[in-house]
Amino acid sequence: MSGYVAPLKDMRFVLNELAGLAEVAKLPGYQDAAPDTVGAILEEASKFASEVLDPLNYSGDQEGSIWKDGAVATPKGFKQAYKQYVEGGWGALPFEPEWGGQGLPKLVATAVEEMLTSSNMSFSLCPLLTQGAIHALELCGSDALRQAYLGKIVQGTWTGTMNLTEPQAGSDLALVRTKAERAGDHYLISGQKIFITYGEHDMAENILHLVLARTPDAPEGVKGISLFLVPKFLPKPDGSPGERNRAKCASIEHKLGIHASPTAVMVFDKAAGYLVGEENKGLSYMFIMMNAARFSVGLEGVAIAERAFQRALAYARDRLQGKDLVEGGKTVSIIHHPDVRRMLMLMKSQTEAMRALAYVVAAAMDFAHKTGDKKHQAFIDLMIPVVKGWSTETGIEVASLGVQVHGGMGFIEETGAAQHLRDARITTIYEGTTGIQAMDLMGRKVAREGGATARAWIAEVKKLDAELARFPQFESIRKNLAGGVQAVSDCVDYIVANAGKDVKGVFAGAVPFLKLMGIVAGGWQMARAAMAAQAKLPQGDRKFLEAKIVTAQFFAEQVLVQAPALRDTVLKGASGVMALSEDQFLAA
Ligand SMILES: Cc1cc2nc3c(=O)[nH]c(=O)nc-3n(C[C@H](O)[C@H](O)[C@H](O)COP(=O)(O)OP(=O)(O)OC[C@H]3O[C@@H](n4cnc5c(N)ncnc54)[C@H](O)[C@@H]3O)c2cc1C
Repeated sequence: MSGYVAPLKDMRFVLNELAGLAEVAKLPGYQDAAPDTVGAILEEASKFASEVLDPLNYSGDQEGSIWKDGAVATPKGFKQAYKQYVEGGWGALPFEPEWGGQGLPKLVATAVEEMLTSSNMSFSLCPLLTQGAIHALELCGSDALRQAYLGKIVQGTWTGTMNLTEPQAGSDLALVRTKAERAGDHYLISGQKIFITYGEHDMAENILHLVLARTPDAPEGVKGISLFLVPKFLPKPDGSPGERNRAKCASIEHKLGIHASPTAVMVFDKAAGYLVGEENKGLSYMFIMMNAARFSVGLEGVAIAERAFQRALAYARDRLQGKDLVEGGKTVSIIHHPDVRRMLMLMKSQTEAMRALAYVVAAAMDFAHKTGDKKHQAFIDLMIPVVKGWSTETGIEVASLGVQVHGGMGFIEETGAAQHLRDARITTIYEGTTGIQAMDLMGRKVAREGGATARAWIAEVKKLDAELARFPQFESIRKNLAGGVQAVSDCVDYIVANAGKDVKGVFAGAVPFLKLMGIVAGGWQMARAAMAAQAKLPQGDRKFLEAKIVTAQFFAEQVLVQAPALRDTVLKGASGVMALSEDQFLAA
């Protein structure tokens, strides 16, 4: 089974040429993100990913986490790996030095996060949820809460969870029923949460649950939801874990994938909880966690695609089958066959496009954080559902292609290709399904503001046309990007004009629109990548740069070319989609 090797060349190329690491490093407080330091961080992270996490990926999947009497044992090696993760300071990378963080840009942390996820997605979920909890506490917690908890959780000695889902409340959080009754300086939390990632485990000494619940007099719906911090162990005055709180793990789920990541049913039985922020504002605070988590789940799509691609490539170079179509003669490895090449190129080009978009959005987060400039935040808000929805849907497609490249062996667990597909499958579901992301994109991010941010972005992409015109060899990139951006523009006009009067018709095309946005945003970055690679060719790494150009051209000609058809689907509205009655679905 081939091991994970971090794609450091591509990561550096994207960081430097597309995401503007040098500009990010000029922002106040980011002076440590100089190229040399970042290079060293990426090297170290890649070692940790390859040497510590990757070897536990397959065994962790086979073994799974195990629940017994309310406790959860993670697979062999996970506890030790987590200890090394904490000692390496990996979790603290993007957080404020005030809390023990390293104060590095989100952009740098994103590249590291991709490596951790590629090498072991199940493991990476614990830090992912913890980071969301840190954001919520940092931004919304009282001074007392921050002083009591942020240090431990930033260092990673304590981990965090996100407790939203209940049996009757999944996509629709207005239905949350968990109760919170005031009891002096704190609240008593009662209810059941399901599907809580790392809700219970043995890797850290304490777990901080961020829980959505309702106070008795709260208004109905999302306006009556508050956010509470419920520690597994209540801290003693010296800060160490003390009395066990009444928050218990009743069981964990048996799942299609991410077997090593425990997915817990949590029962809160008058557990002590502390209000985060103000009563009834919980959902807006939770969105802080969810936005960070949605971005990270989008990155999971990139990471799993990269891992599936690497495994498929290694197999394709190794597996002997069939003869060369032109040369005949000896049996050749399957990488000689055009259809296998097509699959590998689809995998590679989409992975690189997704990476580029995710890193560019991460850089925008740094600019937004440090400058407070609203245009960066607007771009992030527009792109979060795209990164989440498009990268995860494409991640599954790439992982599935990875199985196909392996032929029958892909369907057999031993090669590891099947695990990537199983693991990837959850990414389009949690943190908001693709359908929910797509409606967020169309409704909140486009229609509600009359298409302003989308049109500003369209104008930005259109500016590339003049630059691309200087490179006759990039004519197909130029043509397909122009077609793609026009398709987005047509859809934005249609959404803005029709969302108010025919919401079902417009939302029927929400997922095709999200996919359109993804491939055009990815194509935009690949076009920039082609030009940057061309400029660097005379003095750069020719093999890598030529491959980048060919990959960008392939993306334009085989992926971006689908944009006009997606536009046509969106503009069709609800016809067909809503045409059958519920009875007619059963008519056969
Ligand atoms: C492995 C795993 C880990 C998870 N981790 C966590 C966690 O740590 N914390 C947590 O709180 N939750 C977690 N979840 C829960 C996850 O976020 C939910 O499963 C997800 O939000 C979907 O909710 P649901 O399962 O109830 O599906 P439903 O909401 O019932 O959705 C079913 C289908 O209907 C569609 N749908 C629903 N409503 C609409 C609508 N209004 N318009 C259009 N389509 C709609 C959905 O897109 C989906 O296709 C996890 C789930 C799993 C499986």
